[in-house]
Amino acid sequence: MGFKSNARKRRKEAGIDSKSSSKSDEEYVGEARCDVAGCQNWADKKVGGRKLAFDRAADVWGESGLSKDSRRITVCKSCYRHWKKSKKDEPTEWS
Ligand SMILES: [Zn+2]
Repeated sequence: MGFKSNARKRRKEAGIDSKSSSKSDEEYVGEARCDVAGCQNWADKKVGGRKLAFDRAADVWGESGLSKDSRRITVCKSCYRHWKKSKKDEPTEWS
């Protein structure tokens, strides 16, 4: 009879979660980067990112100006604006 049920001290330290503090106002961390070469902006939908067909984007930045070589690329808000503006100057082939 020497067995004492040693109540395990399972203390859950509630509250302090240092890794994911919800103070994320300072720097937005998104999921998708802009695929324009040299552009470091986020291109998530939330922050105005858009998807473009590679060919259409290549019209503006050139194939070497895009860091991704897939059929669809993602661009940030400001790159999308730039793209839109550039496309406006050209006659669109379907109009
Ligand atoms: Zn960009």
